[in-house]
Amino acid sequence: MPRAEVRIDLDAIRHNVRHLALLGDDAAVMAVVKADGYGHGAVDVARTALDAGARWLGVCTLEEAAELRTAGITAPVLSWLHLPEEDFSGAVATGIDLGVASRRDLAAVAAGARAAGRPARIHLKIDTGLSRNGCPPHAWGDLLEAVAGHAGAGEVDPVAVWTHFAHADAPAHPTIDVQTDRFDHAHAAATTRLGRPLLAHLANSAATLTRPDLHRDLVRPGIAVYGLDPVGGGVHLRPAMSLRARVALVKSVAAGEGVSYGHIWTTPTDRDLALVPVGYADGVPRLLGSTGRFTVGIAGRRRPVVGRVCMDQVVVDLGPTGTGHGVVEGDEVVLFGDGADGGPTATEWADLLGTIHYEVVTGVGCRPRLRRT
Ligand code: PLP
Repeated sequence: MPRAEVRIDLDAIRHNVRHLALLGDDAAVMAVVKADGYGHGAVDVARTALDAGARWLGVCTLEEAAELRTAGITAPVLSWLHLPEEDFSGAVATGIDLGVASRRDLAAVAAGARAAGRPARIHLKIDTGLSRNGCPPHAWGDLLEAVAGHAGAGEVDPVAVWTHFAHADAPAHPTIDVQTDRFDHAHAAATTRLGRPLLAHLANSAATLTRPDLHRDLVRPGIAVYGLDPVGGGVHLRPAMSLRARVALVKSVAAGEGVSYGHIWTTPTDRDLALVPVGYADGVPRLLGSTGRFTVGIAGRRRPVVGRVCMDQVVVDLGPTGTGHGVVEGDEVVLFGDGADGGPTATEWADLLGTIHYEVVTGVGCRPRLRRT
């Protein structure tokens, strides 16, 4: 093992996708692999998810979609967030489904379709209350008119209507029903105006796990694919990412010495300390060191990180010198993982940092300094 690495357990991804596919009943699973598969490696996750029963892949950008096609993945891919000047011809030529939320999107996609010489498959996004991308309900009728025109010209092939929830992680939140109601109206209007059946998709991981009534034709889980539970409901998911390092040095420091920058921790007695060569440049947030509750797992036991997190190093307290901690240089250190045997998890980091586990795994997994295995 190198200095530090992000390890991805693809069996865990397989397990999670199978679980989601079973939960989804008749709904197809679109595994969301944007942001490099939430830091887990988009191509590997995509292949594993498809193997485990996912039928679609979801990404944010055309670049992410192209990466999947370049890797030889031929499954349906939906790409949903685009810039005004985007050239869609390559995406249309390689059969990428495209999110469309405005006349502007539609015109650009239609231009791409003309250049590619084939119709673009489009998913019409209605903004039902998240107020991010998506067509506002007041502009929906107008968008449908334009879609009908381009569909008539053979430039676009509308395949779905979709939306995204603001509060899916709170399954009983009243906005979910409000958004669903708006969605149903928009879907019905689109079906009528375009004169064809259209797929419906709304559910992210949280809604997939907690609201079977919202599964519809497709579910779009992201975080649950990676084994992280968005609702804390004790579902059977297995975290796929772990961040590991090795003990680089074990040494004794006398009582009363300050440890790491700023000396925010001082050895209360003669202490044995372990140096772990991973720091904020690897995605270990500096703030974790200030919480006073940052621990790592070494040889199956939790050990406190003491002092500030540095760019490339953290210091771990092994206890009073001479008490036989058993830690030796080269030992594996788990910074976070699947929580087996009570080890630290990405969710625990998120709690310490006042954020969500999504940010932890995407923040660590993309680090170029870390080898992904
Ligand atoms: N659908 C859309 C449009 C998204 O932007 C995302 C992620 O943010 C997802 C689905 C997946 O969400 P989650 O990771 O919460 O399952």
